Amino acid sequence: MPGPRVLIAGASIAGPALAFWLHRYGFEPTVVERAPELRRGGQNVDVRGAGREVSRRMGLEDSIRAATTGEVGTRFLGPGGQTVAEFPAGTSDSGGATAELEILRGDLAEILVDCTQPNTDYRFRDSLTGIRDDGDGVTVSFENSPDERFDLVVAADGIGSGTRQLAFGDEAEIRPLGLEITYATIPRTAADDDWWRWYNAPGGRSVTLRPDSQGTIRATLNRITDKGRREAGSRTLEQQRARLRAQFGDAGWETGRILAALDDADDLYFESVGQVLAPRWSNGRVALLGDAAYCASPVSGMGTSLAITGAYVLAGELAAHRHHLDAFAGYERIMRPYVNQAQQLPPGTPRAANPKSRLGIAVFGLALKIAATPFAGRVGSRLFTPPADKIELPDYSHLEV
Ligand SMILES: Cc1cc2nc3c(=O)[nH]c(=O)nc-3n(C[C@H](O)[C@H](O)[C@H](O)COP(=O)(O)OP(=O)(O)OC[C@H]3O[C@@H](n4cnc5c(N)ncnc54)[C@H](O)[C@@H]3O)c2cc1C
Repeated sequence: MPGPRVLIAGASIAGPALAFWLHRYGFEPTVVERAPELRRGGQNVDVRGAGREVSRRMGLEDSIRAATTGEVGTRFLGPGGQTVAEFPAGTSDSGGATAELEILRGDLAEILVDCTQPNTDYRFRDSLTGIRDDGDGVTVSFENSPDERFDLVVAADGIGSGTRQLAFGDEAEIRPLGLEITYATIPRTAADDDWWRWYNAPGGRSVTLRPDSQGTIRATLNRITDKGRREAGSRTLEQQRARLRAQFGDAGWETGRILAALDDADDLYFESVGQVLAPRWSNGRVALLGDAAYCASPVSGMGTSLAITGAYVLAGELAAHRHHLDAFAGYERIMRPYVNQAQQLPPGTPRAANPKSRLGIAVFGLALKIAATPFAGRVGSRLFTPPADKIELPDYSHLEV
């Protein structure tokens, strides 16, 4: 007997992680990804706390560890590039700015897709255009293929989820955090090291450099914006480069080198940072997962752990209940408190880490110096990330087929 057919939108982290567990419980997962092939872009993401425990239960912890970026910790730099405070990489499952399992998003997506490919129908270059739930099943229309029937649909297609829009309309709010981030990969030089280096410039700007597993350096240019506004990013790449040069030209430290490298960076990626607040995560036979349901934003350091943990709980609840409505209710009951905590960013985030004035930068540096002392170490790690392990993970292993 073929198992229930589940259509998942999005082949990044949440979608493939869900496919992994659904197959273990006898479901038939299909993943539709809008991009023509697996997207390998993105920078460091953290696998922390419960996310790390789930990766262990998947048998993937060693593969993830083998692909980590080698980042040794986080160093905050003063106006002349001197170290103001440093926080070595965490050795626990949860703490610190640099997690012990720190991996490029593209590498993690590849690990997840590779191990699910044999048992999952992956379809690239397609997306959902219509969802008709008649109570007994869902008829789905696609951009590039004929209509098809599924038992359930899961939207795992990120913060701007088009699938969420189809099934929930404008129900979810995207709360802007008042921060723009531009990501780019630039050449590594002999002067680079394996620290995540963080430099503040006046005007609510910061510039960071991080090592990766591929011999290049991952740079970000960050800028505080008007909090009520979340830009759609409708500029061309050339307009975006010109805008960055105007905004960061006088920032100092290594910024000139990053701006010069932008022309050759083929993965320039711009994000207006926000969080997804969805009043419910399911509607009939359609559910939301990962950033599409509860994006906590890159500044939380929790998006990937939430996606992996949410996939585990959603699949487990579907396996544990005869009726999908009970399963979706269980998923939300178990995950809501964890998500609420993850979305509660440390006070003043992201403004506190991107002060406007030179005086503000000096005060921020002083706070970091204190947080970096051994006595304040525990508080220091909480400055960066919400607790990642505050969830009782159910054991569904008896449901595996
Ligand atoms: C290219 C990229 C780079 C990223 N870089 C970083 C980073 O540097 N740092 C960080 O903290 N987080 C980054 N993220 C976000 C991070 O991956 C997530 O916060 C977290 O891992 C949760 O993942 P997710 O699978 O829920 O959503 P996402 O990782 O956002 O994945 C959503 C997937 O759905 C696909 N998709 C979108 N719309 C549709 C559609 N209509 N139909 C089908 N598929 C669709 C997207 O192409 C993508 O593959 C990045 C995400 C992407 C896609």
